[in-house]
Amino acid sequence: MDLMNNKIQLPLEKLPRKWLNIAPFMKSKPYPLLLPNGKPADFDTMCQIFPTECVKQAVSQEEFIDIPKEILEAYVLCSRPTPIQRAYRLEKAIGVEGDDIKIFFKREDVSPMGSHKGNTAIAQAYFAREQGLKGLTTETGAGQWGSALSLGGALMDLQIKVWMVRISYQQKPGRKTLMNSLGATVLPSPSDQTQAGKKFYEKDSNHPGSLGIAISEAVEASMSSDEFRYSLGSVVDFVCLHQTIVGQEAKMQMEMINEYPDVIIGCIGGGSNFAGLAFPFMKDKLTGKKPNLDIIGVEPMACPSLTKGEFTWDFGDTAHVAPIVKMYTLGNSFIPAPVHAGGLRYHGAAPLVSLATHDGVMRSIALHQLETLNAGIIMSKSEALIPAPETTHALAAAINVAKEAKQNGEKKTILYNHSGHGFLDLQAYEKLIAGDLVDYEYPDEEVKKSLSELPDVDESTFMG
Ligand SMILES: *Cc1c(COP(=O)(O)O)cnc(C)c1O
Repeated sequence: MDLMNNKIQLPLEKLPRKWLNIAPFMKSKPYPLLLPNGKPADFDTMCQIFPTECVKQAVSQEEFIDIPKEILEAYVLCSRPTPIQRAYRLEKAIGVEGDDIKIFFKREDVSPMGSHKGNTAIAQAYFAREQGLKGLTTETGAGQWGSALSLGGALMDLQIKVWMVRISYQQKPGRKTLMNSLGATVLPSPSDQTQAGKKFYEKDSNHPGSLGIAISEAVEASMSSDEFRYSLGSVVDFVCLHQTIVGQEAKMQMEMINEYPDVIIGCIGGGSNFAGLAFPFMKDKLTGKKPNLDIIGVEPMACPSLTKGEFTWDFGDTAHVAPIVKMYTLGNSFIPAPVHAGGLRYHGAAPLVSLATHDGVMRSIALHQLETLNAGIIMSKSEALIPAPETTHALAAAINVAKEAKQNGEKKTILYNHSGHGFLDLQAYEKLIAGDLVDYEYPDEEVKKSLSELPDVDESTFMG
């Protein structure tokens, strides 16, 4: 092991001061967001949903967007710049030790809430407060996003209201306590606080809920008050933008040790941690500097939106209150099997990640959870890190790429995004160790059915 190369720390003064906007570099023109009625979303309507500054960023064609000083300070408080590590012991554990094959990973797990999500939570909370809003509403499934936004709210002095899917609210009291300790209000969804929630709540006050219902409640609550806006933790392009601090740091860190990765890997739920690491490198591919760079998004086999979905217009949510986007989707009514990587169970993928896939700038693969969580076990025993179930998808793919390169006698430098730690999601490992974990493959029939319920959109009316 080369001690000096084991942990690559970016000096604080090199912390990126701007986010990188990949939109102006894309091969094809990005598509606009549409309102649920199928018409292109106008600026004013978008500003009724999201903080105004975020809407501006979403339509910006500037290459770089300044990160305000207060956000930079909060980033530093939350462990930015994060280290990159070379996984020497993992390489040895999987039999690829030596200097032909190198596995590096970016440590987004070191942030206080344990994942990359804070990078956008802090930014959105700041922009909401600067605009004079009282607070943000959001939904959370497993609780990672709710905790990140709660921290953003605490740091920026903003009220956060989280609708948490009731089944998780009951099964993950630790996440709820975490959010409460940061001052956020957490409501089990469906709740009796919104029309959308009441419909279900009044029939069954113990309704387990779903992400779709929780989204509807959070959107309704923001729309019915002038002082609140809605906050999303993934999928939309301004979220991917906020995450690009990750990849910009990573590029400089790799430069510091005279490396440039051959392969970039990230797991994909809505696509934000992947985009955060990949976009700054993808720019080099799009501008012809690194034409052979291999960029891989990794999905669960139970929810392979990019790998097996269709590139088409679809609602961002099950309840059809969120905007319509052109993306790879399994259909908005597709309900994935309850795999443990809860953060990867989204029916679509971020518009820019979808477009990059469609343009052939990146590719995607899908893996089963038994394989990925077993990779998580290898990681925890070799590198002393228990990855989040979501993260194990990127990790397992990195291991596969490394082993394949070894077999083919190739040299390869691999960099993957270690998006989060698994300390609050240990049930997945508990089941794996007990032998109770099963694999789910998505049922073709279900997807076909769900893809038959897409919105009617006539592109020719707005794409010149
Ligand atoms: C939420 C989450 C993801 C998936 O979300 P993306 O927007 O696709 O990044 C991945 N890893 C961790 C640790 C998460 O919490």
